[in-house]
Amino acid sequence: MARARVADYLVVGAGAAGMAFVDALVDHDPHARVILVDRRAGAGGHWLDAYPFVRLHQASVFYGVASTPLGAGRIQTEGPETGLHERATGAQVAAYYAKVLEERLLASDRVEFFGGHEYLGDGALRSLDTGDTVDVRVRRRVVDAHYLSPDIPAVTPPPFAVDDGARVVPVGLLPALEPVETPERWVVVGSGKTATDACIWLLAQGVEPDAITWVRPRDPWMFNRAVIQPDPAIFLGMAADLFGAAAEATSPDDLFLRLEDLGIMLRIDRSVTPTMAKTPTLAQWELDELRRIENVVRLGHIRRAERDRLVFDGGEVITGPRSVVVHCAAAGLKYAPLVPIWGERITLQPIRTGFPCFGAALAGFVEATRYDDAEKNSLCPPTPYSDMTADWVAMQVIGNRASLRFGADPQIRAWANTTVLNPSRIGPGDVGRADVADVVARLKRNAPGGVARMAELAGL
Ligand SMILES: Cc1cc2nc3c(=O)[nH]c(=O)nc-3n(C[C@H](O)[C@H](O)[C@H](O)COP(=O)(O)OP(=O)(O)OC[C@H]3O[C@@H](n4cnc5c(N)ncnc54)[C@H](O)[C@@H]3O)c2cc1C
Repeated sequence: MARARVADYLVVGAGAAGMAFVDALVDHDPHARVILVDRRAGAGGHWLDAYPFVRLHQASVFYGVASTPLGAGRIQTEGPETGLHERATGAQVAAYYAKVLEERLLASDRVEFFGGHEYLGDGALRSLDTGDTVDVRVRRRVVDAHYLSPDIPAVTPPPFAVDDGARVVPVGLLPALEPVETPERWVVVGSGKTATDACIWLLAQGVEPDAITWVRPRDPWMFNRAVIQPDPAIFLGMAADLFGAAAEATSPDDLFLRLEDLGIMLRIDRSVTPTMAKTPTLAQWELDELRRIENVVRLGHIRRAERDRLVFDGGEVITGPRSVVVHCAAAGLKYAPLVPIWGERITLQPIRTGFPCFGAALAGFVEATRYDDAEKNSLCPPTPYSDMTADWVAMQVIGNRASLRFGADPQIRAWANTTVLNPSRIGPGDVGRADVADVVARLKRNAPGGVARMAELAGL
């Protein structure tokens, strides 16, 4: 039976994007009424299905919603990341979103949540449990908060054929397998953050590096976590160095090598020039661990997993009959075409380079405080994610232009300085710091030349 509801906004997706948007919207528009819908039972999106040993790859405070910091902003005082900001586990991220939904959004009495419901279009929701439908009359706009929802191994089949008898498991099953099985070989498939996490987790369980084969179709560049920290002297210092290097760069590859020399970028194997540049962050201790794995297969993508071998376009690798293939090969980040954020619907995408939570919160703030779509789109143009090194250079240019646009608006600049989601924030405690003043001056000097050179390299 169809029930009827009325709301100003129907937000489809209660992951990081939807939650950050709704939080900022209801905080700054005292009248907005929102219906938030998700197929998953709770808020948190992909984190609810993530592998058990996942953590944020960045500092916790960069993630979540603007009103409520994730974590306590603690700097780690022990372990291999001493001196770096804390990073929440997947379970902590999921618990955080549950709390924000319950204690902030639902408690406002202006947000209703339909978990376990699918959005069918035209304002119609259907319960995945009972099949009952809800018709929502949307007074202002539908918000697409899943446009860039990442593909994860838990819900995405391996991108290769699996023969009967081949043992292929999604990464999330590793902790259940490892104590009871001792396969002759663990074969980790993927080049991204999930694959690095799987390798590091196996090594931490005492698996010998020689018992791991890493199928790495591409080699990745990763940010050094030490320079992506919530401290303007560090983060803006990194940006100043990045632009300084970019001004001299002769190609995307040359830029990445310069950034490696500056300690900004890391690669696992210094004898290989990486082509992949999704650039999650990695710590030095993780790099040291990953370098222990020498059995790396670079034959491109797997076409078929058989009981004792993997078949590639250009060859095959014998893995042995008692091997377990660990699927970490979902695409992760999405590369849907950039569209204006404000159109027939609101389509959430990053605005500054990276930091999707900040982008979604900024869109919520601008939606709450501005009326004209042309103005909103002009203030907040979308920025893509990057996959290859050339895309990464383009992303820097597009994201930098976006930052200049919204940063030139005094009201937005003031808001952006209040939220720890903004990595470029200079908080009240930082104003007057001599080291911050130095990096800001260096950033102002280096940015124009660096951006101009990257624009040439990217053809933008
Ligand atoms: C393992 C991992 C670690 C990451 N770590 C970081 C990090 O440390 N820092 C960082 O900045 N970024 C990180 N990212 C990237 C970042 O988390 C994601 O890009 C972003 O959080 C994705 O949020 P989202 O809301 O777009 O998508 P999702 O989390 O996928 O949420 C979208 C939601 O929409 C729902 N949905 C879709 N269609 C419908 C429909 N028709 N009806 C109802 N519901 C629907 C889905 O069920 C889903 O729950 C990480 C990504 C991964 C995969």
